[in-house]
Amino acid sequence: MNNADDLFSRLARSPFRQRFRLGRAEYEMAHSKGESLLRQHAAELIARRLAPAEPPNDGKQTPMRGHPVFIAQHATATCCRGCLSQWHQIAQHQPLSAEQQAYVVGVLMQWISGQMQQPAPPARVIRSKPQPDDDPQLTLW
Ligand SMILES: [Zn+2]
Repeated sequence: MNNADDLFSRLARSPFRQRFRLGRAEYEMAHSKGESLLRQHAAELIARRLAPAEPPNDGKQTPMRGHPVFIAQHATATCCRGCLSQWHQIAQHQPLSAEQQAYVVGVLMQWISGQMQQPAPPARVIRSKPQPDDDPQLTLW
């Protein structure tokens, strides 16, 4: 397992991962819940959606918006067991140990706290027309 600094510097070199930012709604949600409640949510979400040996819908189980933890998962490559294996060297097809779950939660909280040190993002802009060059997965906010 890589240390967190190394992980974050590798993530910083991935244009795909770098595109993820908290939207206004998620930023406000993170702000109002506070760190300890968010950490508890992160632990619950990871235990339920990522930790099983074969998570339901693996590869598509993490929404693109709606909770700060979901966005943090995409940004930190902890969204599914495939990304967890590729980026974090955590083997697929076996349940995550308590220690591995705590590691993932730590990574998520580090990313969220970095986002919360930045100014609130602007409210979502609704575009009149879809832009042809947009990645369809990323046009949701
Ligand atoms: Zn993934």
